Amino acid sequence: LVVLDNVNKHFGALHVLQDIDLTIARGEVVVVIGPSGSGKSTLCRTINRLETVDSGHIAIDGKPLPAEGKELARLRADVGMVFQSFNLFAHKTVLDNVMLGQLKVRKTDKQQAEQKARALLDRVGVANQADKYPAQLSGGQQQRVAIARALAMDPKVMLFDEPTSALDPEMINEVLEVMQQLARDGMTMIVVTHEMGFARSAANRVVFMADGRIVEEATPDQFFSNPRSDRAKDFLSKIL
Ligand code: ATP
Ligand code: MG
Repeated sequence: LVVLDNVNKHFGALHVLQDIDLTIARGEVVVVIGPSGSGKSTLCRTINRLETVDSGHIAIDGKPLPAEGKELARLRADVGMVFQSFNLFAHKTVLDNVMLGQLKVRKTDKQQAEQKARALLDRVGVANQADKYPAQLSGGQQQRVAIARALAMDPKVMLFDEPTSALDPEMINEVLEVMQQLARDGMTMIVVTHEMGFARSAANRVVFMADGRIVEEATPDQFFSNPRSDRAKDFLSKIL
């Protein structure tokens, strides 16, 4: 469903993505881990074309990434993204946040968009917050709204870039549970996270990055019990 073929990217002299080959099947959950600065966020951002690449190819569902215009808006809708900072529209209610993309990009009619938004808010456990503004919600609730907003576009794949890193500890689980459920429901997911419990229980595959390269790919069991590279061993010794 998602294919990266020999992708390279530089920021000036920094070779931030080096010869990245990565194929993600429909329904697969891939957890990306690695030290700070290894290129994990940049990898996510190239997949929904928030960043362009210098060379190589990326395709979603068999289609190369479009360059601009309507095609690009549609791609962004197909590739749902959830960031560390929740990035909700502060001046819109929770309900409007989840309706907006449907109305603007998917051209859903208003009644249908509202129905769907309410169903999704219910699914992520914040149905009773629909008429509030983001600032009136806890971080965990805001992040669950952000997930609902992305899901409202019927994405083909969901990207999560450290979705729980900005949350107080007691709110991490409520967000991870929503993600677990999404994984069980068959969503294709790419998740950058340091939550190794989530990686163990939800991931089909762990991708370990360091210095802009994919150093190791393995099942969670293999990776955590028997990392092959020194970089991965070193990394795991610091976080586990
Ligand atoms: P973290 O775990 O800290 O989030 P990361 O693995 O997500 O790290 P990236 O954010 O992808 O790493 O950054 C990789 C490298 O690229 C870093 O050295 C970073 O400073 C650099 N970088 C990221 N974005 C830009 C940019 N827009 N311009 C210049 N350099 C950048
Ligand atoms: Mg990052």
